[in-house]
Amino acid sequence: KNHIVWLRNDLRIHANPALSAACSRPDARVTALFIATPGQWRAHDMSPRQADFLYRNLIELRRALADRGIPLHYHQCDDYDAAAAWLADFCRQRQADALFYNYQYEYNERLRDRAVEQALDGHVICQGFDDGVLLPPGSVTTGDGDMYKVFTPFRAAFIRRLRTEDPHCLPAPARRDATPLDPIGELEPFDYPRRETEGYPAGEEAALSRLRDFCHERLQGYSLGRNQPALDATSRLSAYLTLGILSPVQCYNRLRTACPIVLDQADSGAFSWLNELIWRDFYRHIMVFYPDVCRHRPFVAWTRHVAWRRDESLLTAWQQGRTGFPIVDAAMRQLNETGWMHNRLRMICASFLVKDLLIDWREGERYFMRRLIDGDLSANNGGWQWAASTGTDAAPYFRIFNPATQGRRFDEQGRFIRRWLPELASVPDKFLHEPYIWPLAEQTGLDYPRPIVDHGQARQTALAAYQAAKAQS
Ligand code: FAD
Repeated sequence: KNHIVWLRNDLRIHANPALSAACSRPDARVTALFIATPGQWRAHDMSPRQADFLYRNLIELRRALADRGIPLHYHQCDDYDAAAAWLADFCRQRQADALFYNYQYEYNERLRDRAVEQALDGHVICQGFDDGVLLPPGSVTTGDGDMYKVFTPFRAAFIRRLRTEDPHCLPAPARRDATPLDPIGELEPFDYPRRETEGYPAGEEAALSRLRDFCHERLQGYSLGRNQPALDATSRLSAYLTLGILSPVQCYNRLRTACPIVLDQADSGAFSWLNELIWRDFYRHIMVFYPDVCRHRPFVAWTRHVAWRRDESLLTAWQQGRTGFPIVDAAMRQLNETGWMHNRLRMICASFLVKDLLIDWREGERYFMRRLIDGDLSANNGGWQWAASTGTDAAPYFRIFNPATQGRRFDEQGRFIRRWLPELASVPDKFLHEPYIWPLAEQTGLDYPRPIVDHGQARQTALAAYQAAKAQS
């Protein structure tokens, strides 16, 4: 039997349902396949940092597969249409009996998979598996079988399901006595800009060791520390989860080892971390039930009437971290320089762009995707729509963050701000979140922009714009 396992966002050999299934028959010849699609990545705004991380992980994956006697075939097409056509040919040439893959839940990816199935037209058995989620989309629904529209009841149902389901990790496939493999040369680089990022070693061993260390050392303090951007209190696993170097099922199992009673300990750090993993699943489930969110349409229909402001100079100031609001500027510089931003800061920066500058959330969504190493359609879209009150947030649109208050609350002594805005080093703590009111600002020649908007006024403008939009619906 000839089995092909098509790897996409599941670049690992452990806990990989499609790979396990492809290898389940000891007599099958198993070929793994990865298709690079630079044109599609461009259309999806993949960041050069993520492209580099992907490339480095592919090299590690190829090595890990080769150790198990499985060759990784690598091919480059432009986009998904070309990939689907090429794959159908490849399966024919190889006389494949079966094609295995883990589902991707995004809209274009689902269309692509349907095209592949149609092109293979029953000649090759296609088998898809749920992966990249803790529980399969569609398995956590209301009594009527609908998807929850807000998080809290979803989480309650999710936890009930976890008690009975108990997702477990499949082992890596055993070594196969396959024909000798081609020597492992350099992997041909794909036609996509790449940018190296410090602090992200490639490969699932690196991911698993980061997961183990986090659960061992930082889980307990997570609920207290997770909102403090100056601390290194979160796992920093998002980039690994996004590309499937690590799966949420592996995270959950490690969490259960560290804290077996996590489901019953709602006040623990472990539960708080599980809560974030459930958020991740929530947005993926939403994407399956409401595929329109993949096409950048608002989840709450009336919000499409909001009259966004088009102002390149405000947008550029936000992108470059020159808004005059220290917590926003420090966060944007962290993003630009490292490809990662702390969750609390993503919320603050998103709220600022949408509510203070009244700029369309899709501008921010795109900018984040182009910069983040962990850019992920569902989490990013979910986060942006939440902040813009166009999404699943249970709070109404008139909840608007005050950036100075957020700064004082989550970076009280300004340790984070000072790290990213050295020009504010001499500003006393008391004025750090509003440096323009520091009486000595002028005298000391403080080189920092004045606020680009007045928060109080901006708030009123945003409220009026949302009210007007709602009235139109
Ligand atoms: P931890 O705190 O250790 O959390 C563990 C894991 O849970 C994360 O790695 C991530 O996979 C998941 N997670 C945590 N918080 C969330 C959340 N609010 N929503 C969904 N999943 C979550 N996350 C991405 O992975 N990719 C994105 O493109 C992305 N864009 C975002 C945009 C905005 C506007 C907002 C508000 C949030 C966004 N998030 C995104 C969610 C969150 O900010 C990151 O997942 C988190 O900061 C990653 O750091 P960590 O791995 O240390 O997280």
